Amino acid sequence: MTDLPTPFTFSQSSLQDYVDCPRRFQLRYMDQLNWPAVDTEPVVENERRQIEGQIFHRLVQQYLLGVPSENLSKMANTPNLERWWNNFRQEFDNLGKLHPELTLSSPIGNHRLVAKYDLVAVQDNQATIYDWKTYAKRPRDEWMSARWQTRVYRALLVQAGAHLNNNNPFEPGQIEMIYWYADFPSEPTRFKYDANQFKRDWSAIEKVVNEISLTKEFPLTEDEKMCRFCVYRSYCNRGAQAGQMDEAEAEMESEAAFDINFEQISEIEF
Ligand code: SF4
Repeated sequence: MTDLPTPFTFSQSSLQDYVDCPRRFQLRYMDQLNWPAVDTEPVVENERRQIEGQIFHRLVQQYLLGVPSENLSKMANTPNLERWWNNFRQEFDNLGKLHPELTLSSPIGNHRLVAKYDLVAVQDNQATIYDWKTYAKRPRDEWMSARWQTRVYRALLVQAGAHLNNNNPFEPGQIEMIYWYADFPSEPTRFKYDANQFKRDWSAIEKVVNEISLTKEFPLTEDEKMCRFCVYRSYCNRGAQAGQMDEAEAEMESEAAFDINFEQISEIEF
């Protein structure tokens, strides 16, 4: 039996993990268990793509902070990076007032909800959340819509983004979220927002945070598909063999793991 530490900092990744598998939430965030299983096959190719994904995020961040693109282009020195970088440069220009690598946080119950955004651009009273994805396959819009990232990022911008809007909270209708896929530059996923969605999202976030706070047992998921790309497979005795990288959604699970590492690096005080 384990108690959640209070206050606990929730993120879209930890909420997604809890909903996918309560045991994964416990192992990763409460027990902080580092387990060496490889989460997808083939290992080398997957690791390389993850590292390239991290470099791509850094390149874009530096570019948005004003580093001249000629200096950055030299760092796009693999075929994937070069293609993603060229796609990015062709697609984005004149985005308005930019807030790259923005971290927002808000109290939620006795805890905290935190999100780190790739970019929030504010122009003409509209805020656009951009999230860069280096997936090998373009996911279905319905799949992205159901991700906790989509709910948390938009709701938290309403809740905690007033300082980006002359100290007035954004209305949900002023917010849009765009997932931009570096390998599918002309097929982004766009999600508008409205007051009903915000109400629904915030109350869903409060509900799951409250549920986790009260939970004493974190069972293994009954949906064993969730185990295929999970690093705790061998620990949980749910198979030693990783799922194949070309199976649908494998790439997205790996990127979720990357988001978590990212958050651990930039722990914020409260
Ligand atoms: S291997 Fe399966 S049961 Fe174990 S933490 Fe991962 S998803 Fe949950």
